[in-house]
Amino acid sequence: MNNIFSDISYINKDGIRQYNIMINGCWRCVMSNNTFEVRNPANNELIGIVPNCDIGDVNYAIESAKTAPNLKTFNYIKRLEIMENAKKLLLENAHYLAEIITKESGKPLSISEGEVEATAERLRLTMQEINVLNGEYLSGELVSDTQNKFAIVIRKPVGIVATITPFNYPLFIAAAKIIPAILAGNTVIAKPASDTPLSLIHFVRILEMAGMPKGTINIITGRGSHLGDTIVENKDIDAISFTGSTNVGENIVKKAGLKKLHLELGGKAAAIVLADCDIDNAAKTICKGTFRNSGQRCDAVSRILIEKSIKDKFIEKVLIEAQKYKIGDPMDKETQIGTVINEKALWHIDGLVKDALQKGATLLKGGNYKGLFYEPTILSNVTTDMRIAWEEIFGPVMPIIEVNDYNQAIEISNKSEYGLDSCIFTENINFAIKISKMLEDGSVTINSTPAHGVGHFPFGGNKKSGIGREGLQYSIDELTKLHTIIFTEK
Ligand code: NAP
Repeated sequence: MNNIFSDISYINKDGIRQYNIMINGCWRCVMSNNTFEVRNPANNELIGIVPNCDIGDVNYAIESAKTAPNLKTFNYIKRLEIMENAKKLLLENAHYLAEIITKESGKPLSISEGEVEATAERLRLTMQEINVLNGEYLSGELVSDTQNKFAIVIRKPVGIVATITPFNYPLFIAAAKIIPAILAGNTVIAKPASDTPLSLIHFVRILEMAGMPKGTINIITGRGSHLGDTIVENKDIDAISFTGSTNVGENIVKKAGLKKLHLELGGKAAAIVLADCDIDNAAKTICKGTFRNSGQRCDAVSRILIEKSIKDKFIEKVLIEAQKYKIGDPMDKETQIGTVINEKALWHIDGLVKDALQKGATLLKGGNYKGLFYEPTILSNVTTDMRIAWEEIFGPVMPIIEVNDYNQAIEISNKSEYGLDSCIFTENINFAIKISKMLEDGSVTINSTPAHGVGHFPFGGNKKSGIGREGLQYSIDELTKLHTIIFTEK
């Protein structure tokens, strides 16, 4: 066990590692005696036991965030220093953290290593992010009733931010919410997904060691279905930054009342493949866009809308490319496809594939699973009466839908209830611009597949894909409030 993490867990009487969580600067102050198990999806090994917090623990965390030493006097330089320290600690422990991510999520080690690097990158770029807080000067001269006035508009912290995060990037997604929340001067209560709580427990330890004052960062572990409403409805919480499914996001909207909401929800990215595209590039990048992290990404390509004239050629190339995706032990550096997260996810994926096959789709590859390892799967002759044309898959499945022309592709793409990402493959840049403006998604990528990455470009959803935008200099916007000070010249 690595030094800085040595006292966040212990080996219990059954020989299992039991984790503590931090509330109010204390790693052993959880009131609930209940726990839940965290298992490795690749081999079902029990890798940790974690507190199953009760409502008293949630309220204690909220109280702690409320009464913490006021972060408003915790100045920019100090906050930046903490981020710098956290980056160093993260990088010193990068391999250990990547292994934790892989063990709890079943994703290949190479992807977990990338996730740790992306988190370090996010910590490195905080100088750029914090600039948003500098505010702006507005002259009043443009309008007659403000002729003799000017204003400065500054950003203030909202107060307490609750972050609620999913399983698929358990370190990065949580960090990308917590970092801007702290930079802005908020206090934080962080709730990880119950399948993958260990990465965030370790990250909270890193932030503590980096210098976060007592009570400013707190973590709560336990089922969202049990604790969610207590967090969301609490009047002392000022903002909810949530990434997860649309169902849960809609429930948050119903219950949160007048809080700031930043919701990153489901997606159903279409890849529009036009006859004039570079077909080798399309086949290669679409495989990556579909299969990476077993398709468990909100930005995963999950329907290919392809013009008839190049469909056969595309299928030929994509089948060759898909052979390169090695499925196997996630701890093996050569593995590209690990497991999906749990049985519920597996059954959902398999249900969508079976529905498509029953309604006439053709299975070109895959369609099988062993344990929680779902094979990269390619389906052609997919039609719009099949569930897989509309529902989020969150699995390594590529449904190919033939279209007559770009108009039909745009119509099908926009008919989705989601509006997060889409992409277009064409060599005609003017045409690409024209189509990209007609698509209703938060981001449209040209000649590559969507990849939110570190968040250098802002991303976020329209329609049922969410409210607000994530990204460097954008997330911080969601977690602050504008404060205008107007000066009158005499
Ligand atoms: P999920 O089931 O919605 O869970 C997300 C988080 O919400 C977990 O921490 C979960 O806790 C918690 N939760 C569950 N019920 C809740 C409730 N009633 N109130 C408050 N919180 C509750 O999503 P997931 O399966 O982990 O993640 C996959 C989804 O996330 C997909 O739909 C994907 O598209 C979306 N996603 C979106 C983005 C984006 O940027 N737009 C990025 C990544 C993922 P428990 O684990 O304890 O249930």
